[in-house]
Amino acid sequence: MIKGNDVEYAAKCIKEGGLVAFPTETVYGLGADAFNARAVARIFAEKQRPEFDPLIVHISSVRQIEELFRQPVDEKVYRLAEAFWPGPLTIVYKRSDSVPDIVTSGLSTVAVRMPSHPLAAKLIELSGKPIVAPSANRFGKLSPTQASHVEKQLDGIDYLLDGGSTEFGVESTVVMITQNGVRILRPGAVTAEELSTHVDVLDSETDYDDRDLPSPGMLKSHYAPRKPLYIINKPSELNYDEGDGVIIVSEEERGLYENAIVRSLSKTGDIQEVAVNLFAVLHQMEDDDDVSDIYIEAVKEKGIGKAVMDRIKKAAYSYKK
Ligand code: AMP
Ligand code: MG
Repeated sequence: MIKGNDVEYAAKCIKEGGLVAFPTETVYGLGADAFNARAVARIFAEKQRPEFDPLIVHISSVRQIEELFRQPVDEKVYRLAEAFWPGPLTIVYKRSDSVPDIVTSGLSTVAVRMPSHPLAAKLIELSGKPIVAPSANRFGKLSPTQASHVEKQLDGIDYLLDGGSTEFGVESTVVMITQNGVRILRPGAVTAEELSTHVDVLDSETDYDDRDLPSPGMLKSHYAPRKPLYIINKPSELNYDEGDGVIIVSEEERGLYENAIVRSLSKTGDIQEVAVNLFAVLHQMEDDDDVSDIYIEAVKEKGIGKAVMDRIKKAAYSYKK
């Protein structure tokens, strides 16, 4: 695999229908020209991603939504774009006819976001096209927050744009625009509290006005390491064997776990730091031959902690005891 920081070469690959892995502020994405259905199909093949799971289209200027969203575009879209773009918010809205079916899995809506990472923005701008990019990993596995995580999982790509570690560490928040407000389809780096200062955030249990719109990709199991992963709430719950790995939230708790292989997500429990390190630490545990089972402490579901806990629950889902 060719790796480097040549964004012009990367843009040339995109224009020619190639696949480029690139950093965003959330995780690394695997990109292709959104209007080249053949190139988009290669993404699904490379990731072994099922075709019912639609992709997010990445743009570098708000004007690009004109070719992606159906006109006239709801005013809430512009309000959110103004407040959160460029940044980790994905907006799902009715699509225009020119978006290829393979991008949206045949849905009548399309997901769009404008990343703030300078390399991502430059790549999109230079290629002159919106770029579809799911996370650059095999479907259902751990998300990549460093270039080495991409190399570990994928091999059939044309260029890996290396931009170091990503800033947020969890994926974007995905919202769907509805008549009365927005509905959060996936918790992420932008929190419900932040959204609600700009639009009404609908309550998932009571306020849905669009039950007929499917929201795929909200799978119960996702982001999973190759080894069993279990969630623990307090050390006394833990009945580990020698050789098990324990992921703690704060370095200060290290003393609570004896005889285990311990890694911490932060120095003092800062949730932003926890989010940034989550996938990297899971990758380290997955790659460590001395670790058999992995245990991870639960975090408080407040702010970005909600997104962190969403990822942890999905990563652990298939290993429920
Ligand atoms: P990722 O694999 O991290 O890029 O996540 C993309 C996710 O965005 C999908 O799995 C869906 O949950 C969501 N998504 C993308 N497009 C749509 C859409 N048109 N409607 C609803 N959700 C969508
Ligand atoms: Mg993903």
